Amino acid sequence: EKASSPSHAPLTNRSLVEIDREHLIHPVAPFRGHEQHGVNVLASGKGMWLTDANGREVIDAFAGLWCVNAGYGQESIVEAATKQMRELPYATGYFHFGAEAPIRLAGKLAELAPQDLDHVYFTLGGSDAVDSAIRYITHYFNAIGKPEKKQFIALEWGYHGSSSTGAGLTALPVFHRGFDLPRPWQHHIASPYPYRHPAGHDDAAVIASTVKALEDKVLELGADNVAAFFCEPIQGSGGVIVPPVGWLKAIREACTRLGILMLVDEVITGFGRTGPMFACDAEGVSPDFMTLAKGLTSGYVPMGAMLMADHVYQAIADSTAPNVPVGHGFTYSGHPVSAAVGLEVIRLYEDGLLANGAKTGERLAEHLARIASHPLVGDTRGRGMLGAIELVANKDTKAPLNPSLDLGGRLSRLTWDNGVVVRCFPQGVIGFAPALCCSTDEMDVIFDRVERSLDQLLEMPDIRRAL
Ligand code: PMP
Repeated sequence: EKASSPSHAPLTNRSLVEIDREHLIHPVAPFRGHEQHGVNVLASGKGMWLTDANGREVIDAFAGLWCVNAGYGQESIVEAATKQMRELPYATGYFHFGAEAPIRLAGKLAELAPQDLDHVYFTLGGSDAVDSAIRYITHYFNAIGKPEKKQFIALEWGYHGSSSTGAGLTALPVFHRGFDLPRPWQHHIASPYPYRHPAGHDDAAVIASTVKALEDKVLELGADNVAAFFCEPIQGSGGVIVPPVGWLKAIREACTRLGILMLVDEVITGFGRTGPMFACDAEGVSPDFMTLAKGLTSGYVPMGAMLMADHVYQAIADSTAPNVPVGHGFTYSGHPVSAAVGLEVIRLYEDGLLANGAKTGERLAEHLARIASHPLVGDTRGRGMLGAIELVANKDTKAPLNPSLDLGGRLSRLTWDNGVVVRCFPQGVIGFAPALCCSTDEMDVIFDRVERSLDQLLEMPDIRRAL
């Protein structure tokens, strides 16, 4: 035992909650807040269902963290991982080594992805996929003799991971506060957030406003200084913000016109989450970079990918002598076990999972439409198997509920107590991202439990007073 350790009791005599409280730093959780709350230990899962350490079953309407798209307990995924571990648990991708699974997965992704996204760099998740793109974009502009193009633009409410560079393109204040972000070369423009946009639900006006904001920002920074624009097709962690249909295409055209690269971050929207394999497909958009993670391995093992368009790849290739390394590499880039899982998961998507997700997504849309009449609900939105409810104090004025009411925390507790896992965002948004294997009956169970939670929230005296 270290002298500074908070507890000197042998680990075996302490409960999981105690060990967790004293030793495990939880992503994003406030340190003191987590000590008080304690951990909800999850023990096992099957399909849409999770069992906690006390044996209680809950339905997971958030696929872990928008990632377990194939649901829990898929034996064929376990088999793919085990087989690969037995044969070859690790192979470096450094320099000129490789293994079959990552090579086949790169080929498969290039085949599935929009037009010229032909080159794949594997990462461990989404944050380092975004971070890798920032590094390669920097390298690219140096390579083509435009070293001054180093400014990056992203959207307010956007999320692009938690790496020390990507977190600055993320535009959620908690990811900046105390971390000295954003950096001077990271800029943000207004989000196409229809419910909170002055142009309301006039789709064309919302689209035009982002195009104008991007043009203005590029003008302000100087076109010769701007490298790229990063966006999510639907902003996930900002609260499932769904831009109008046609928005992504208009932004693609604007980026081309302005001479800047476009990165579409499909970490959440990829792999059937919004219906098609990628959200870009719905609008026929082919970005210069695409980032993927989560659904790529259905969360069974960590893996992300950064896809690079052929014109960028060729420029970097032409600028580098054959014996000079391009110094960007992770030990676990293209991990064979993750790649074997990725191949099996994609097989499952193509073998009916995507189709089931599209079908059950219609049921999600029906429930969202119905729940819109609840006294607390100001807006509902979604696409495919991605959805959200936004709570307000006043449905007419759209006035939000006071942040001091701790809506996110209360809703998380209520929904957990009612046996459903959803994501409760601090501004009073409840997000849904069930596994694509979800049945329509299971979707009904989810909404039954969420509605009960909303009714209980409405009965709380301070919430009533706030309306
Ligand atoms: N980009 C987007 C759009 C994401 O939603 C996320 C994760 N929520 C990331 C990047 C970061 O991915 P990871 O957590 O796997 O690093």
